[in-house]
Amino acid sequence: MGDPTKYQFDLPAAGRPENVTIPEFWYPGIKEVYPHITRSRNWDPITNMKAVVIHATEGSDSAGAVSVMVEGKASFHWLVPDENEPEHGQLVWACSPESRLAFHVRDIARHPDVNGGANNVNRWSLGIEIVNAQTPTDAFSDWQVEITARIVRYCWAKYPNLKHIVSHAKLDPPPHRSDPGKQFPWEHFKELVLNGTDDGVPDVVRKRHSVKSMPKGISTKGACTP
Ligand SMILES: [Zn+2]
Repeated sequence: MGDPTKYQFDLPAAGRPENVTIPEFWYPGIKEVYPHITRSRNWDPITNMKAVVIHATEGSDSAGAVSVMVEGKASFHWLVPDENEPEHGQLVWACSPESRLAFHVRDIARHPDVNGGANNVNRWSLGIEIVNAQTPTDAFSDWQVEITARIVRYCWAKYPNLKHIVSHAKLDPPPHRSDPGKQFPWEHFKELVLNGTDDGVPDVVRKRHSVKSMPKGISTKGACTP
């Protein structure tokens, strides 16, 4: 059993993956919902992304989590299905574009270990919700932990200044929030993020990735130029 108020690790300078893919699909109908419960970011969403916040829903299914967005109470970027849902093991739900600011942490919440203690965490973070009841009998499935780690690796590959992986409970501790809860295997999750191997990248891409493979010289025939 872990202490969710202490769940955090920082991504090292070395070891950033080059490419990671995630099996994400829009939650049906969410494109009509997210514009009302997210807003545009005030600054460059690529270079200013500093953190990923790990949440658990305290509910039993994805629909329950999405209903919170429909009701305009909160929003998040990805939703990881529970083991009793047919999508488990297959896909994660995209619920807001990464470029949009989602409301998954209170504006006043902050921690000195995370981005210099800055508040307004939503401005510079992404939020992942894992469907889990946070009860002693509802364990996180291996796949839920693995795919959440892969989403974080995808973010690590994509955002050059991403550093902090942190629980909601550390940023805004009990009695306000305790997620993702004592049962979340944080150390195993951290290991999967830092040393993940299945990044879903086809060999043809992996082989091509080297400075030597960059095309050289100027061609007037190779591409449509402005
Ligand atoms: Zn949360």
